[in-house]
Amino acid sequence: MQLYDPITSISGIGDKYAQMLEKLGIFTIEDLLMHVPFRYEDLSKVKKISELLAGETATIVGKVNKVDNVYTRYGKSFVKAIVEDETGKLEIIWFNQKYLKNALSVGSEVSLSGSLNPKSKKPQFTNPVWEVIKDGEALHTQGIIPVYPATEGLTSRWVRPKIKFVLDRAEIDEILPENVLKEKSLIHKHKAFEMIHFPEVQEEVELARKRLAFEELFFLHLKGLKHRKEWDSKKNGHKIKLIPTDLENFKNSLPFQLTKAQNDAIEDILDDLKRDVPMNRLLQGDVGSGKTAVAAAALLASLKSGFTSIYMAPTQILAQQHFETIKRLLGLTEDEVGLLTGQSRSGTVQQKKIIIGTHAILHQLDKFQNVGLVIIDEQHKFGVSQRTKVVDYFTGKKATNLLAMTATPIPRSLALTFYGDLDLSVIYELPVGRQIVKTWVTNESKRLAAYDWIKKEIHQNKTQVFIVCPFIEKSLVEDLENVKAAQEEFEKLKIHFKDFKLKLLHGRMKGSEKDEIIQDFAKGNFDILVTTPVIEVGIDIPNANIILIETPERFGLASLHQLRGRVGRGKNPAYCVLIPSTDAYPSIQRLKNLEKIHLGNKLAEIDLKLRGPGSMYGTEQHGFMDLKVADITDINLIVSTKETAKDIFDNLDQFHKIKEKLDRIESVEKN
Ligand code: ADP
Ligand code: MG
Repeated sequence: MQLYDPITSISGIGDKYAQMLEKLGIFTIEDLLMHVPFRYEDLSKVKKISELLAGETATIVGKVNKVDNVYTRYGKSFVKAIVEDETGKLEIIWFNQKYLKNALSVGSEVSLSGSLNPKSKKPQFTNPVWEVIKDGEALHTQGIIPVYPATEGLTSRWVRPKIKFVLDRAEIDEILPENVLKEKSLIHKHKAFEMIHFPEVQEEVELARKRLAFEELFFLHLKGLKHRKEWDSKKNGHKIKLIPTDLENFKNSLPFQLTKAQNDAIEDILDDLKRDVPMNRLLQGDVGSGKTAVAAAALLASLKSGFTSIYMAPTQILAQQHFETIKRLLGLTEDEVGLLTGQSRSGTVQQKKIIIGTHAILHQLDKFQNVGLVIIDEQHKFGVSQRTKVVDYFTGKKATNLLAMTATPIPRSLALTFYGDLDLSVIYELPVGRQIVKTWVTNESKRLAAYDWIKKEIHQNKTQVFIVCPFIEKSLVEDLENVKAAQEEFEKLKIHFKDFKLKLLHGRMKGSEKDEIIQDFAKGNFDILVTTPVIEVGIDIPNANIILIETPERFGLASLHQLRGRVGRGKNPAYCVLIPSTDAYPSIQRLKNLEKIHLGNKLAEIDLKLRGPGSMYGTEQHGFMDLKVADITDINLIVSTKETAKDIFDNLDQFHKIKEKLDRIESVEKN
């Protein structure tokens, strides 16, 4: 078994599970090994039955003496078993696990982890973790037990034996050169996988993590270096110029004065557009920092130079908004600007000079002639393959200029690492007079008062409100648990706010259903939109002025900042109320930064400082980078891996295995 073999080569993984795994981006044996535990349960205390102490969690090993389904008078049932070792007998009660009657046959050897029931006279475990021991091996009840991110249908109990199967069979060659391992004090790859999944002592986890994180970051850098090199060898096939008077006229025609940051970004872009190498720039700026006006300047330059431009947004609604804005800002007619989305198009778009739309554009690429500029708004919302598709299409021999835009706040130092192949412009200020979202970190004891205040605001000011539900499990996708919790929260809120209209929005809804609810909210048809934290609303709802966020301590500051950015898009004052489910001083202090600071980048910097390398407090993915093991805030490791990547990249041909993996990563991302 090899690292790049498909997961279906593991016994017990058929099409059904393969499909689930693929949704998580797990295709190969190596991908599965990189599905690492997010915490561990220490079940290393194995005891004899007679040694069990009240209140202590321990594991015992014994033989099943008896096992029965017991039915109570009230129609309930439970499983009762007696397990025995050479020192005594233990009674076990399991509720709601009827199938155990068959799973545990009399005479089989089992391992059970639990603690003595203090209410029982006889020694008794209630609902212990159990497993039948096969070949002397216990995966779930003995030692330091890996706990995997809860994702749909993939329980830790299912994952553990699969990983074990792989570790026992796969050939895991070292990919990093020996001298690098030595110099950077890294353990071998095979060892690292063993230690991260089945550590013998807790300390092994950190060693393993470091080794795997090193490789992960190392390849990220290599990818950046490779893309940069490829890009720099391209020739700008559409040199674009904007003469100063046209630029001045544009600026003067705007209904506002551009900020210095916007002007700087425009200058960066216009400089790029004239050069021999095509532009490949990322424009980063908070929501509301005015990226559209910067994009408009670039579009104008392209138009004046006689080229067609494409402007892609991730949703239908956004595309529509941009279409209106660009027409207005540039004073163009529908003969010049076209809209192209899944549902609508204005006339024959191929004749337009500027085409604004969604990914629907991707299906029509061959219709457009002479494309000199491609702008991708909210670029992180597009899949890598979608981005690559446009870029590759227009960057053949006569390459096109590319501008990607994002509101994801990320410290500059990290942006330069993660977007290593792009140039970066940052809009680091908001337009003057832009209202900030007044923010309070409050606590549970003020909840009802907060609700009352919200009711009053709805009554008096007809304001609309977002309530963001508590986040419960760390998970890669919005799992059922979170949706269930949201539904429960929603029921509770309906009682609290019984005189108001509420709707629930969560990630498991169909796209059309979601859109409908959001549109309905935008039209002011109901008062409170209850959402799960991972939901992006994506459009301006100018009348929504209050957002209440539950369990904010589980989020990074930058993410919270993005969440609160859903309100304050209108004229009225806007408010954000945070109700943490903890009163731990450091958490509260961290959150209080949001009361004072209103720039995403600044908050991201603070996140970076507060999160020590390896610490994990956030549940959310940062949205710009799916790191499986590495911690994006581990600057030391980022710097160290970058050095190694540069050295090796210069002599890449000498490192076959590395080159092979790099090519693999590329080809996977393209598909
Ligand atoms: P984003 O960066 O989130 O895409 P937008 O481009 O949508 O931000 O701009 C948000 C709002 O701010 C728009 O209504 C826009 O007209 C306005 N705006 C942009 N630049 C300025 C500015 N320099 N001064 C005042 N308002 C501005
Ligand atoms: Mg925008």
